[in-house]
Amino acid sequence: MSFYVYNTLTRNKDEFIPYKEGKVGMYTCGPTVYNYAHIGNLRTYIFEDVLKKSLEYVNYKVKHVMNVTDVGHLQSDGDEGEDKMALGASREHKTVWEIAKFYEDSFFEDCKKLNIKRPTIVCRATDHIQDMIDLIKKLEEKGYTYVSNGNVYFEIDKFEDYTKLANISIDELKAGSRIEIDPNKKNPLDFVLWFTNSKFSNQIMQWESPWGRGFPGWHLECSAMSIKYIGEYLDIHCGGIDHIAIHHTNEVAQSEGALGHKWVKYWMHAEFLVVDSGKMSKSTGDFLTVAKLEEEGYTPLDYRYFCLQSKYRKQLVFTFESLTDAKKGLKKLKERISSVLISIDENDIVNAEKTSGYKEKFAVCISDDLNIANAFTVLFDVLKDDELNNKEKAILVEDFDKVLSLDLMTTQDVDSNVDEELINKLIIERAQARASKNWARADEIRNEFITMNIELLDTKEGTTWKKK
Ligand code: AMP
Ligand code: ZN
Repeated sequence: MSFYVYNTLTRNKDEFIPYKEGKVGMYTCGPTVYNYAHIGNLRTYIFEDVLKKSLEYVNYKVKHVMNVTDVGHLQSDGDEGEDKMALGASREHKTVWEIAKFYEDSFFEDCKKLNIKRPTIVCRATDHIQDMIDLIKKLEEKGYTYVSNGNVYFEIDKFEDYTKLANISIDELKAGSRIEIDPNKKNPLDFVLWFTNSKFSNQIMQWESPWGRGFPGWHLECSAMSIKYIGEYLDIHCGGIDHIAIHHTNEVAQSEGALGHKWVKYWMHAEFLVVDSGKMSKSTGDFLTVAKLEEEGYTPLDYRYFCLQSKYRKQLVFTFESLTDAKKGLKKLKERISSVLISIDENDIVNAEKTSGYKEKFAVCISDDLNIANAFTVLFDVLKDDELNNKEKAILVEDFDKVLSLDLMTTQDVDSNVDEELINKLIIERAQARASKNWARADEIRNEFITMNIELLDTKEGTTWKKK
């Protein structure tokens, strides 16, 4: 079966053919650890998690590498603005190292709650300074760099096809990135590889280098670490769409400049999560976190389910109303699954042909550039299918949850506030249905009681009930 992905590089849904058969090298840009991850960031990480699990579902062996940015990221994503880590440190009166540790830990706690699997390798920028220096040396040997006012720059005019990923003209790129005039640059789009003589003279994170004491430019870490851990040929590189024009464009220039050949085969980008007021921004401090959603009574998996309801390439508008709808939807789905799970008959025989047919259908959906909406339709078809017994249904739900990761096999807690009025109404309706030999309705009501974890007791005095 072929797997298709939308490739930013070709602007096309391409068939996925990795460099090495059966294996995937995947690199995803990780968090800048100067504040909590907001739910917009986490939408991108959920997309990447689903992508990885989908590839694994269709039997690829995936090596997933993700960086943690703990140095060099300025407010602008380019070479302007304040250092994000230093800003975090002064905001909280802590050292940059304390800030980095705290927010890295909190990021992975959020990921855990959202069932985002930890990458095969997580690598911090500050642990890879030598790899970055070596990459600059290579670029220097090949004539891509110049030193100006103490900083080392990448000269984009030396790199053929600098705009191929962004797919727009140099002028549009310049206009889009609103670059401050920097007299040290030959071309305003040139970018810093190594800062030595910048405005951050009191920067705490500094290292020795052939060009003087300083620190690396932000883009460099992703090129250096992905080449180190995955090699010179990378199958998939992901991130949010904001990274296309600057960060990923600069990564391509650095990596392909140093390697002398094409580097990434498939670039995949998640669209933004937006709120009514526009983009959710970490730097303004005005954003929603997983902890905030929990405070408001939502579970992290409600949010995962909310994200899975829309295509990763479409902008997603966040409102609490739509999150509430997702919460209700997930609850209903889990209740339906719970009623299957508690009614499994151990003597049921599993028909492998029937289950593998559904697995195949599910695989076709996720292989179509992650068509998760259709994948959910397959799940609902399974739950509705009278030809499947409960054991077969449970096997399929468990299998699909390898990708969806919504804890579908954990039985739904029934609200502790039992709706007595509803129960009494249903008991009367069940008695009427039985009296009129409407066995279908009587069975339906019985199933509703199973879902609610309510046991009925038929006695001489009538029907009573208790919670199981
Ligand atoms: P950062 O920690 O700012 O470097 O961003 C981490 C990831 O989140 C990157 O892949 C960004 O492209 C992505 N991102 C940033 N803002 C949003 C948003 N509002 N919606 C979706 N992804 C985002
Ligand atoms: Zn990156």
